[in-house]
Amino acid sequence: MPIRVLPEVVAAQIAAGEVVERPASVVKELIENALDAGATSMVVEVREGGKRLLRVSDDGIGIPAAEASLAFARHSTSKLQTIDDLDQLQTLGFRGEALASIASVSRTTMVTRHREEQAGVELVLEGGDLRSERPVGAPAGTVISVENLFFNTPARLKFMKAESTERKHINQLVTRYAMAYPDVRFRLVQDDREQFHSTGSGDLADVLVDVLGLDVFREMVEVNPQPPSRPDLPPVEVYGFTSVPNLSRSNRTHIVLFVNGRAIVDQRLTYAVVQAYQTLLPNGRYPLAVLLITLPPEDVDVNVHPTKAEVRFRYQDAVFTAIQRAVRVAISHEDPASDYTGTGYANAWSPPPRPIVPGEEQLQLDMAVPDPGRYPRASEMDSDIPAGPERPARPRTLPILRVIGQIGVTYIVAEGPAGLYLIDQHAAHHRILLEAITEQFETGEKFERETHRAVTVELPPDLARTLENGLEALAVFGFEIEPFGGSTFRVRAVPANVVGQELEHVLYVLARELQGDPNRQAERLIHRLSKLAAIKAGEMLDTDVMQGLIQQLERCASPLVDPDGNPTMVHISGDDLARQFGRE
Ligand code: ADP
Ligand code: MG
Repeated sequence: MPIRVLPEVVAAQIAAGEVVERPASVVKELIENALDAGATSMVVEVREGGKRLLRVSDDGIGIPAAEASLAFARHSTSKLQTIDDLDQLQTLGFRGEALASIASVSRTTMVTRHREEQAGVELVLEGGDLRSERPVGAPAGTVISVENLFFNTPARLKFMKAESTERKHINQLVTRYAMAYPDVRFRLVQDDREQFHSTGSGDLADVLVDVLGLDVFREMVEVNPQPPSRPDLPPVEVYGFTSVPNLSRSNRTHIVLFVNGRAIVDQRLTYAVVQAYQTLLPNGRYPLAVLLITLPPEDVDVNVHPTKAEVRFRYQDAVFTAIQRAVRVAISHEDPASDYTGTGYANAWSPPPRPIVPGEEQLQLDMAVPDPGRYPRASEMDSDIPAGPERPARPRTLPILRVIGQIGVTYIVAEGPAGLYLIDQHAAHHRILLEAITEQFETGEKFERETHRAVTVELPPDLARTLENGLEALAVFGFEIEPFGGSTFRVRAVPANVVGQELEHVLYVLARELQGDPNRQAERLIHRLSKLAAIKAGEMLDTDVMQGLIQQLERCASPLVDPDGNPTMVHISGDDLARQFGRE
């Protein structure tokens, strides 16, 4: 074949391969255009996973009728003119490729009306060719409908994934943009069913409740910008929410990062989040996090890849450190509460830079401070927790709780990031001891024991026989018992944590356990021993003791249920309280 310059449409189709990989990529480009146009509200409609229809309607500034067809020409953009403009880029788009690419592989209809023009215009393109252009009446804003995606690129069409997969991708994409732009109202409708909507309240917390559900959101703590680690580096603000360590996932995909309002994929920065949890999460477990990172546009190079999902940083280490520190502070006790000057948390960050479209009045963001009691900051809660062990030996599995007191000499009252907790002191201690004794047993570590003057104990004859056969099993836990004729025994040593208990009772209940399933003997003994040794209901406890108990419970593998299957705690969320008091 002789060398020829490719026809415009063929070039666009090839370029489309990079930008428009799948239906979700079309949605991404259309959403970004709507955001760049200053939309405060947009609707995303999808049919058949995007194969039939993708439509984004926005209330942005619109396109002047005279320029409308130009929007579909390759390399036509209103967002930059010189290469230097890239340095100060305030928009998501800049390549001027998306609409040309999308139109080249579909049937695209655009209805748009510029805010300052009387009439709108409708354009229909097929495979990149303009088929019709006519004036229409329309509200200010832009509606772009993409039908029959990839109809003229059979290879792409063949590689389209199942409808359900495409649907999922689109869901994820829209919810991510909703998180990055809490001030914009998003509505996603797939096959006539609403999948998701955000309120546009400007509050990331509201979006997260919609995306994650209230139960998961309750296990998230707020991440706030920290003072820079080095004053010579440019400021990097990190705002968002991250999970308390008892909530984790088996992969990193629940760590979502935005840089200047752009969803990005960056292994190293994702690792910064994971690293902040250090020993708090077991291997193979990862936190959930949504972090909005803001830094001067000239310090980010967004022109690395056509899909703009990868970015390069001028000071990568500064970004890494900022993320790691902010997350670390949020989840640990180290929170310098004194740094906190605001009255709520919503004012601790500024939204990602919004484009300033000529002619558009800048929108006053409603950053109303939510009731601070609703999702209190971790820092406020933690301020008077006594310093715990320097380094947690085990991962934290509960949010950090602060003891308030004891009621009914049975329950510990504590508060945490998500409200009020009532903890059954016996159930909690039973759980703690069970896990500790099991671990000690499994690692073969010696049990601490207390030797004392031999005491004689008598048991009913059948239990005495069982006990006699089980003396070795009991010796593992620190008992030193010998038969003393008939149904009596001499006890010379007991495990340290049952010291002070009535020996007859201890041996009686242990002998009963020995009568059970021999295959589960150790397990049964541990269960019983931990119950025996646990603090009882009716015991008055000092605050220090209660706090210690809670700290140990925070690191149990299963802190929420006792070994008998009963709850160790009752949680009353801040929302529940507010409702009870008619505050909502
Ligand atoms: P880019 O976003 O990189 O500039 P696009 O091909 O996505 O390139 O869009 C081309 C141009 O069309 C944009 O620069 C913008 O001027 C205009 N445009 C596209 N979508 C919209 C929209 N929803 N509202 C207003 N203008 C739009
Ligand atoms: Mg664009």
